[in-house]
Amino acid sequence: MRWNDKPYHSLDYELKRRYGEKIYKIALDAGMTCPNRDGSCGVRGCIFCSAGGSGDFAAKGVSITDQLEQGKQSFHSKKIGSHFIAYFQAYTNTYAPVSRLETLYRAALDEPSVVGISIATRPDCLGSDILSLLDALNREYADKFIWIELGLQTIHEKTGERIRRGYPLSVFESAVKNLQELSIPIITHVILGLPGEDKRMMLETCSFLADKGIDGIKLQLLHVLKNTDLVELYEKKTFEILDLMEYIDIVISALEILPPDMVIHRVTGDGPRDLLIAPLWSLDKRRVLNTLHQEMKRRGTWQSAARKTCNYNRKGVVSDDSGPVDTV
Ligand code: SF4
Repeated sequence: MRWNDKPYHSLDYELKRRYGEKIYKIALDAGMTCPNRDGSCGVRGCIFCSAGGSGDFAAKGVSITDQLEQGKQSFHSKKIGSHFIAYFQAYTNTYAPVSRLETLYRAALDEPSVVGISIATRPDCLGSDILSLLDALNREYADKFIWIELGLQTIHEKTGERIRRGYPLSVFESAVKNLQELSIPIITHVILGLPGEDKRMMLETCSFLADKGIDGIKLQLLHVLKNTDLVELYEKKTFEILDLMEYIDIVISALEILPPDMVIHRVTGDGPRDLLIAPLWSLDKRRVLNTLHQEMKRRGTWQSAARKTCNYNRKGVVSDDSGPVDTV
């Protein structure tokens, strides 16, 4: 197939293509908070967000250098991986004075085994001072990359209010424009299965992103985690949790409308086992991925299959839309 063994352009494929080896992500906790929690725009956070600020896998209270070392050691003990992505994951990682951010980002970029950093943040936390810093670092560390991950979740304003995201779509659009002017790649997080959304609405979000020149996407299943406000809505049965085949069907339809060069960073959720209330089927990640691959094979479909364009060439990458090519 075009993307080795997968019917979509996975991050794993993209990193092996670029670096010739598997690259691992080390999740970092830089000790941030979030304007949606500290009172600047809210105090309770997004309704699905855990106390760890969506960074439950990152180590806490340790310097970036030490976290990277710990992360590397955990991979070395498995005898895998020599290069890494430093993933600033927990909370809002551009929400601090620029001087502090610069120190944090440089600590990761200066580590020789780090090929790049990925910074998870909100689009309303990318002011001109932050953008100038990102631009300067992007130029200075030309042999490494800086990615920005934006937690959009949905383009629908009503859902955005329901989940207490705290900013309208126009803010996301401005951030995308600013980052694209600086040639900083953008990865967007989308949650599938949010309260009040049906398949059509979820696909509208994916379709919007497909036409925005977004570089990568994380398709994430909605998780109901302990100690979040989503639990109450779940217990009152105000929305339905997707079952496995519903989720697979939506992911496939989403992949079909995404352009072939958009990198798929995730096709399922990664909820911490001890916090997850529902859906419990998502704990078996291997089953989810196997089911997705088998179902795409059964349907004879692939990422971008529903797009009309041929020779899609948004970033000068020549690719054709004529379907997967079997090489075996
Ligand atoms: S913006 Fe991110 S860190 Fe802040 S409350 Fe929402 S999900 Fe959590």
